[in-house]
Amino acid sequence: MDSITSLSAIDLHGHYGRYRKPDVSKLQQRFMSGGPKTVVERASRANTAWTVVSPLQGLLPRGAADPVAGNEDAHRVVHETDGLLQWVIVNPLQPETFDQAERMLKAPKCIGIKIHPEEHRYPIVECGRALFEFAARFSAVVLTHSGESNSLPEDYVAFADDFPNVTLILGHLGYGGAAATSFDLQVRSIQASRHGNVLTDTSSARSITPGLIEWAVGEVGADHIVYGTDTPLYFAPSQRARIDSADVSDTEKRMILRDNAERLLQAD
Ligand SMILES: [Zn+2]
Repeated sequence: MDSITSLSAIDLHGHYGRYRKPDVSKLQQRFMSGGPKTVVERASRANTAWTVVSPLQGLLPRGAADPVAGNEDAHRVVHETDGLLQWVIVNPLQPETFDQAERMLKAPKCIGIKIHPEEHRYPIVECGRALFEFAARFSAVVLTHSGESNSLPEDYVAFADDFPNVTLILGHLGYGGAAATSFDLQVRSIQASRHGNVLTDTSSARSITPGLIEWAVGEVGADHIVYGTDTPLYFAPSQRARIDSADVSDTEKRMILRDNAERLLQAD
């Protein structure tokens, strides 16, 4: 256990900024918000060297976010803040975000593309081809929200199969289904994909479920699972503790917490 807690992790699923959802209480919105300083401070308490973030400004509120302004802000923020890297947000309904991505992906601290069919309100089945065609031009890593009706993990598989040079991370291992009662959607999609280019991350609050991480490692292997926290929505040190204490081998923890992410960042 000691050797694992001393491992400096890479968190591939983070955010910063204000959590804005009209149907959520002011107090909860405050709890789930956090600026770049807060994100980095919590990352350091979770012994995390790098947190890859997308700005909440570009995702929330649902259907009314401003990814163009968010991307510009994130580009500046990661440049100014040690410990942060950027996902550039692409919204297929806003062509300008493709131009931004094309420009920002050239920057060393911008490591890939974030998509969010739920917050941006489009079905991935309809927009996936255009998104993957674009990502394939850069052999990009794509992180997506997954688990709701517009973003069902199974709906990504055909695109990932058609564009094997794109690495797809299905966010939120264990989350999903119409009533959010399914735990296995991300895992089943990884298994259904043909080229090994589909992964999932541990950023769901469902990580607290005993057995989930361990089951997923058994099903798809630790090489298909990356560490994510959804900071500042969730408390990064709690997410870290779940992996440190998981009933899997130290080698598997190391792959989840750092090695897999390092491989993706180097390939970039
Ligand atoms: Zn997220």
